[in-house]
Amino acid sequence: DAVESAPAIVIGSGYGGAVAALRLGQAGIRTVVLEMGRLWNTPGPDGKLFCSTSAPDHRSMWFRTRTEAPLATFLWLDVVNKDISSYPGVLDRVRYDHMSVYVGRGVGGGSLVNGGMAVTPLQSYFAEQFPTVDTAEMYGTYFPRARSMLGVNTIDPAWFESTEWYRFTRISRRHAANTGLRTTFVPNVYDFGYMQREAAGTATRSALAGEVIYGNNHGKRTLDKTYLASALGTGNVTIHTLERVKSISRAADGTYVLTADRIDDTGAVVETKEYGCTYLFLGGGSIGTTELLVRARESGTLSALDASVGTGWGTNGNVMLGRANHLWDTVGANQSTMPVMGIDDWANTANPVFAEIAPLPTGLEHWVSLYLAITKNPSRASFSYDSGTGAVRLGWSAAQSAVSVGMAKKLFDRINSANATIYRYDLFGSSSKVFADDFTYHPLGGCVLGKATDNYGRVKGYSKLYVTDGSLVPGSIGVNPFVTITALAERTMARVLVEDTAP
Ligand code: FAD
Repeated sequence: DAVESAPAIVIGSGYGGAVAALRLGQAGIRTVVLEMGRLWNTPGPDGKLFCSTSAPDHRSMWFRTRTEAPLATFLWLDVVNKDISSYPGVLDRVRYDHMSVYVGRGVGGGSLVNGGMAVTPLQSYFAEQFPTVDTAEMYGTYFPRARSMLGVNTIDPAWFESTEWYRFTRISRRHAANTGLRTTFVPNVYDFGYMQREAAGTATRSALAGEVIYGNNHGKRTLDKTYLASALGTGNVTIHTLERVKSISRAADGTYVLTADRIDDTGAVVETKEYGCTYLFLGGGSIGTTELLVRARESGTLSALDASVGTGWGTNGNVMLGRANHLWDTVGANQSTMPVMGIDDWANTANPVFAEIAPLPTGLEHWVSLYLAITKNPSRASFSYDSGTGAVRLGWSAAQSAVSVGMAKKLFDRINSANATIYRYDLFGSSSKVFADDFTYHPLGGCVLGKATDNYGRVKGYSKLYVTDGSLVPGSIGVNPFVTITALAERTMARVLVEDTAP
């Protein structure tokens, strides 16, 4: 097959990839984006782009015959997951030995499936995690730039206090207050004006119709509507979908050579393509980018990569759990899928936790308060390469997850004791499982800034090779990560376009 060349190639179209594509396009550099997922722009037979969470179909998951939702059961019944037909659906669950990683697949990456929470980390914790980054510049320039580009907005507090859709949040806030804990509103990229129209019955429901992990048909400002739309608008960027990059090597003249499998809707490889480029930007996400680089180093195609590539990986301390409320503390049958508040106990140095108050929209009163706790788990893991199979493995252990559980338990034991409540035992598969510690929504690290790369995401050992995604973040950032990933990518692009691409 003929080699297709472009000055710049971006692998992946999530946050890191989208920022790179836009800024390259604006700089007049012809750029090809290679994305393994599909473009979500064609309605199915029901007239919708995405299926609902309660009635998932083939669109829900990446080549599965049964859905694999984070909540396995409800009242011990296997009612949550459904048989589906295999298709390049929007949510993937990548299974390693003791840890599953949920990721979005499609043009827009994680923005298609996530909860939209757009949180800027505490400046002191950012500085702790990124000691070589100029925090004043981050908080003065790149975080504001990221928030404005992503369309971050906040819920109207008066509406929040009065609407049935956030009763579940208000109950959790009261229980936190009873425990002497602080809660804080968290911004979101879901358009709250749209949500209020949903509630009023004047707009088609999405967040108020249970849509989230398998995509939102309305309301959410996903990357295909923000960064990527602007990138395409420059006229310099093209996006190739259903193309999965398999390997990266370097030609004698210093340009990069990629091979990519183009797949069809059954997952069959219909073509293996070869690409060439001068500048290569890796935006495949923490596990996508790290797997590519570990394989490249270990198989010898980029053997000068630093030994720290494939290390420093963490789950952002993620643990999910549910509490059972008293019968008089109803959480409401109607719940918006977009979280807007967290219990902020990060300042508690003995046990720092930031817990998102998460929805569990079933359409029925269930008295469950659900949380995604972000704990300050210091454990990190490394990836390894199996030369026999070419597989990349993640060395995360169950004991490392137990650290996150211990921290979440300390906080929620206090909340239960202050409110005379208990945990829910029926949500995560087996009857004794209270804490879902075997999956993460926040994979971070693998190519850590300043270790595997220089201070701006330039990969050590090579020139014109960059990482712009969540693999730069050293395993923990204390809050939901996409604003941080976006802001760091903006910082990298501002620097690289000035210093590295001048003629
Ligand atoms: P991604 O967004 O994961 O993008 C990587 C892209 O690269 C994907 O589209 C992938 O298909 C593609 N790709 C990977 N490998 C290859 C390859 N070899 N070839 C071609 N393409 C490739 N974060 C928040 O801040 N707030 C939230 O509310 C929130 N909620 C979440 C809820 C869920 C269910 C999930 C799964 C995540 C959530 N997150 C949230 C996390 C957030 O979505 C991620 O941190 C973010 O998407 C990571 O951005 P990224 O640029 O690193 O990679």
